[in-house]
Amino acid sequence: MFLKSVTAFGFKSFADRTALEFGAGITAVVGPNGSGKSNISDAVRWVLGEQSAKYLRGSKMEDIIFSGTSRRRALGVAEVTLVFDNRDHMLPLDFDEVSITRRLYRSGDSDYAINKKNCRLKDILDLLADTGMGKGAMFLIGQNKIDEILNSRPEDRRSIFEEAAGIARFRMRKKEATRRLDDTANNLTRINDIKSEVE
Ligand code: ATP
Repeated sequence: MFLKSVTAFGFKSFADRTALEFGAGITAVVGPNGSGKSNISDAVRWVLGEQSAKYLRGSKMEDIIFSGTSRRRALGVAEVTLVFDNRDHMLPLDFDEVSITRRLYRSGDSDYAINKKNCRLKDILDLLADTGMGKGAMFLIGQNKIDEILNSRPEDRRSIFEEAAGIARFRMRKKEATRRLDDTANNLTRINDIKSEVE
């Protein structure tokens, strides 16, 4: 699997629809300071589910929407689509090509899509778990990240290895199952209370 293209519209400095095509192997992006190189990796990180504006170098999520220039009005929506070559079926879908889209409106509403079909963020996170591109994965190493990893608490560092080892998905499922069990236990307590009141 490899990233074939990134298409951005209204995302940070990409005011116009911009499509970047990548081949298999190494791609280097070069350009002057402030020309938008890091915005490309921010776009990738964002589509893959990043929920923290800080990790996208902003203070709030709205900061990722093109904020305008002296000659251009701000936009109301940001949209980025990633297309992956999935011929090796690393993404567990029956398609040789998989696209993932994320959209954010200034109102705060957002949309997600896999292969142009609307989905939830959770569907994207589930799809990516175990691929090495899931939440918290090290597929993107930003500036300062190395220091952060070295200084992180052992349990935080462990989550990096868990993602790489492919067990992050099970941790997510376990968390969900535990939550449901707790809900069920609460419901049972409530039912027993009602039962003893009636008896
Ligand atoms: P460097 O080489 O210094 O790391 P870079 O090429 O990685 O720079 P970026 O940090 O990707 O550059 O891009 C910064 C540019 O993106 C700045 O000019 C900034 O004004 C612009 N930018 C960031 N967010 C927005 C936004 N919401 N709307 C418009 N422009 C934005």
